[in-house]
Amino acid sequence: MSPIGSTTSPKPRATRVAERHLANEDLAIRFVNTAAWRLRSDVEERLPSPEALLDWFHANDLVSRGERTALQRAWKSDVEAANSLYESAIALRELIYNLLIARIDGQTPRTKDLEAFNHFLTAGGVGATLAWRAGDYAWRATKGVGSLLTPITLSAAELLTGIRSGKIRQCQDERGCGWLFVDESRAQNRRWCSMGDCGNRAKAHRHYQRAKGYALKSD
Ligand SMILES: [Zn+2]
Repeated sequence: MSPIGSTTSPKPRATRVAERHLANEDLAIRFVNTAAWRLRSDVEERLPSPEALLDWFHANDLVSRGERTALQRAWKSDVEAANSLYESAIALRELIYNLLIARIDGQTPRTKDLEAFNHFLTAGGVGATLAWRAGDYAWRATKGVGSLLTPITLSAAELLTGIRSGKIRQCQDERGCGWLFVDESRAQNRRWCSMGDCGNRAKAHRHYQRAKGYALKSD
């Protein structure tokens, strides 16, 4: 769901359902999933600009509305700073994706990916603190723009090393959704990023195939 005051246009129902579902995922996974249809050749970039990234930060409680406005103003006069953070953020996102996929596949991650991720981890330092905002805890960056990425980095590190690391999965949608999620189901048999989206499509597809099979037999 879009935050109040967001300038994003109304979204189709399927996207809204998927986004609502995403709200239950770890910050690192929500961030990785800002690239949709990863397993297709035409990956859909949902953060196409520094402004979109800033909106995402706000929608995910990484900056307050006031901080967003201040950054929007600052970036108007310093495009280079905006682009620099944007490029770092996208690089971090792809590193996290690679590290998560290595964990899912049980494969040794590439040394250069691990080193680059560790660079984010040490460069950000603490840099981000907890604040109490509107009845809940929220991140607040204290070391300038660079530390805006710290909460995402920490979320990924915790996920990769934590007790849920063996439950990370990739959506099995045949059309190439590629979204990641943590399978919290008791039976550990969740296959899709969202039952309301890819899961429904798979069910509908199976139904269609079955119906087609019957039609062929009765010919
Ligand atoms: Zn999916």
